[in-house]
Amino acid sequence: MIFEYNELHKEIIDSSRKFAQEKLKPLRSFYDEKEEFPRELLQEFANVGFFGIALPEKYGGLSGGITGLCLAIEEMAKVDAGLSLPVATSALGAIPIMLYASEEQRERWLPDIACGRKLAAFALSEPEAGSDATAQKTAAVKDGDSYVINGVKHFCSSGDISDIYVVFASTDPAKGARGISAFVVEKGTEGFKTGKKEKKLGIKANPTTELYFENCRVPASNLLFSQGFGLFVLQETFDYSRPGVAAQAIGIAEGAINETVPYLKSRKQFGQSVSSFQAIGHELAELSAKTEAAKALVYSLAAAMDKDFIPAFEKACENKTVLRDELKKISRKRWTKHSAMAKYLASETAFEVAQRCVNLCGGIGYMRDFPVEKFMRDAKVTEIYEGTNHIQKNEIAAQIIKEH
Ligand SMILES: Cc1cc2nc3c(=O)[nH]c(=O)nc-3n(C[C@H](O)[C@H](O)[C@H](O)COP(=O)(O)OP(=O)(O)OC[C@H]3O[C@@H](n4cnc5c(N)ncnc54)[C@H](O)[C@@H]3O)c2cc1C
Repeated sequence: MIFEYNELHKEIIDSSRKFAQEKLKPLRSFYDEKEEFPRELLQEFANVGFFGIALPEKYGGLSGGITGLCLAIEEMAKVDAGLSLPVATSALGAIPIMLYASEEQRERWLPDIACGRKLAAFALSEPEAGSDATAQKTAAVKDGDSYVINGVKHFCSSGDISDIYVVFASTDPAKGARGISAFVVEKGTEGFKTGKKEKKLGIKANPTTELYFENCRVPASNLLFSQGFGLFVLQETFDYSRPGVAAQAIGIAEGAINETVPYLKSRKQFGQSVSSFQAIGHELAELSAKTEAAKALVYSLAAAMDKDFIPAFEKACENKTVLRDELKKISRKRWTKHSAMAKYLASETAFEVAQRCVNLCGGIGYMRDFPVEKFMRDAKVTEIYEGTNHIQKNEIAAQIIKEH
């Protein structure tokens, strides 16, 4: 694929590829089987600067934008989406802070996130609030100069290895969707603890956990933007984070193809390499073309976003203003439709590619000693998290209908 990557992007591709091959590949099957995350890997990610890719240099980041983040996620997902997930989940937790935090809040949290000293996470989903994220039961009540949070979150990625959680809670139940607010809750805050770790189909090395808030008191200065703006925070976070899920899906599809083609070339049946059968070649052609098409959408979207995102962030730092306000000065355009399209298309492609690669490899494709079945299991979640594909299609349809 021919894209205009700048020098920084090329460096990110090289370092992520090297990291994935040298550090992740030898560990992937062990930790997938063990369903555990090796915490010592966090420092290794941090050493390469992965946690600060999209953050401005002012906070210790690389200013690589959404494109840089997508490239790192894609390269690592080519090898292992599960082990590399903390990079994506910390970015997901950092994006609402980037978009909606004040300069004082940015200074408080972003340098620690950028250098990997602290991992960010995103806590929206609840047992009764999934696709309908506005049905928040977690409540935050103002008490003097603090808020007291009570409730349960579930399915939090990197749940028990993170430090800075962006937590959504209802501050005004009577207002429904307009009564939700976003807070930062730090690990170690009294009344906050992590709970059950889920057993999963894929991305098994990443801990997906419950979070409990019991009279958890946070300073009012941990509120992002203003009370009642949580819906905007979560919607715009997804606008900027879904390309990352799409990039992860692209990486998974490419990884499955990368494992499958050499096997098909080496596997002989009927006296010839199975890759020489036209039926097999056509399948590979279809899977590669679909992956490239999805990739083109993801990276053209990321590049379009970065045109505003990177300079607006610089302005926000310079003027000590909120990034979202600086973005609005440039354009009132929202990325919702294209972000949803990218995630929908890339995730469906990833699962189709990975499951067809299992078939292409025959019996060995089904065996856990061979990595292709893992790509299929890991692909599935990209169709579910950060909004299921039904929800992506609802969002795309709503925009199309509005536009016509
Ligand atoms: C491994 C994993 C990690 C996750 N990590 C995080 C995380 O870090 N932070 C976080 O906050 N959440 C996380 N999630 C939660 C995830 O975002 C939700 O699971 C997802 O949004 C779907 O919600 P649900 O599971 O409650 O499904 P439900 O909302 O109960 O959906 C059930 C079915 O109904 C469909 N459906 C629902 N509403 C509609 C509609 N209006 N139109 C059409 N179909 C509809 C859905 O598409 C689905 O098929 C994670 C989930 C998983 C599996």
